[in-house]
Amino acid sequence: MKQKGTQTNSKCFVSENPKESCGLFGIYGIPDASPLIFQGLYAQQHRGQEGAGIVVSNGEKIRSAKDFGLVSEVFSKNPLNELTGHIGIGHVRYSTTGSTRIQNVQPLVAECADGIWAIAHNGNLINAKNIRKSYQESGAIFQTSSDSEILIHLLADPMYRLRPRRVERALQEIEGAFSFLLMTRDSIMAARDPNGFRPLSIGKLGNGYVFASETCALSLIGAEYLRDVLPGELVTVDSAGLKSSMFSEKQKNYSHCVFEHVYFAHPDSYLFEQNVHNVRLNYGKKLAEEYPVEADIVIAIPDSGNSAALGYSKQSGIPLDFGFIRNHYVGRTFIMPEENTRSHWVDMKLAVLPEVVKGKRVIAVDDSIVRGNTAARRVKYLREAGAEEVHMRISCPPVKHPCFYGIDFPTEKELVASSRSISDIKKLLGVDSLGYISLEGLLSPFEKPDNFCTACFDGKYPVKIKEKLTKKTLENH
Ligand code: SF4
Repeated sequence: MKQKGTQTNSKCFVSENPKESCGLFGIYGIPDASPLIFQGLYAQQHRGQEGAGIVVSNGEKIRSAKDFGLVSEVFSKNPLNELTGHIGIGHVRYSTTGSTRIQNVQPLVAECADGIWAIAHNGNLINAKNIRKSYQESGAIFQTSSDSEILIHLLADPMYRLRPRRVERALQEIEGAFSFLLMTRDSIMAARDPNGFRPLSIGKLGNGYVFASETCALSLIGAEYLRDVLPGELVTVDSAGLKSSMFSEKQKNYSHCVFEHVYFAHPDSYLFEQNVHNVRLNYGKKLAEEYPVEADIVIAIPDSGNSAALGYSKQSGIPLDFGFIRNHYVGRTFIMPEENTRSHWVDMKLAVLPEVVKGKRVIAVDDSIVRGNTAARRVKYLREAGAEEVHMRISCPPVKHPCFYGIDFPTEKELVASSRSISDIKKLLGVDSLGYISLEGLLSPFEKPDNFCTACFDGKYPVKIKEKLTKKTLENH
């Protein structure tokens, strides 16, 4: 039976949130590693839903399986019991370079003169186009259109292959944002770019070692968090144990991606040594201090707005309620990377609860506004559900610039804040008030704010952009 006031229950929205580029998971020294790698990828599914893959080694033979789809879908078609081995790496993918084709799903596996290498990458390499071009001109053939493949070519190149510190030398050639897991028949390696854009942590499980983009994956399999891979560090694990070497000099400041804390990472993860939920809680508190307003309820745009909404409510004393309910059963069609794959679908992710918002002055807390279309529709539906006032609070500053370090933002032209004032955006969204956290507020939870990248807000790119890679940049080169 349709209840009075519930006519908007079916109004839902397409997510326009930026997308993460990938999640990594690796294991050394645990018998039957693949079920654990599956769990580690499952815990990081939020970092990429386009495809997933696992490569394992029993010390002699390397086996792999990868496909499009969620981790559970890929490994229902490719049984884990066929992936036997005590060493392995896995990957969940959202493409920021390289289009949607199976060759681009990682880990990438290649047979070089000295054996098989597998690689899994999170980030974006900003000099991939040039390196690729020079290899192609000298006769190399590329299997993928992903920037990650250039590392395989560098490793296979006799210039690096036949010299000491081969992996370190190869890593010195690439620029941009990267966390890599590399695997041979009998070892696993983890490397992080000198700026430390993307996270990568090391854990211990029994006699073995575990690597994960996010610590939530370590927790899920019961591994103990040891430390992060340092920016500019290569960690190698083989039968001799774990050893570390630096392939770059220590930077004066790092450039950890602050957007990981704003939106991407799971709330129970520790990222750049801070718990994600606590950071977001602080953002909410800060927003309440910076943009107070009289209202009846605070609601979150779930899920990434949840912790900040709680923080706003705690700081302001205004009660928190559930104005939106998230549908957790939306299929992956809705999270496919291509805009034209998504845009004609009605978003099934969030539904308004008119019983909560009707007649109320509502503060809606979201993590970010990208194009503005989704936010405008959310406001419209809140009003249709009877909200008397809608005040929007955003737990990051206006996103004005694209990211070239592994996050799939739209172009500058498409970003609503790139060419509009706050008051223009306020009008466009149809809200009664709009408040974005300040840049200082965004960095306030961190002991060393200079160690964070904020380029998408202030345009100060910490690593000079030489090539503006898109998903298609490497297709025809
Ligand atoms: S530009 Fe923005 S999204 Fe990209 S790495 Fe920097 S903070 Fe993260």
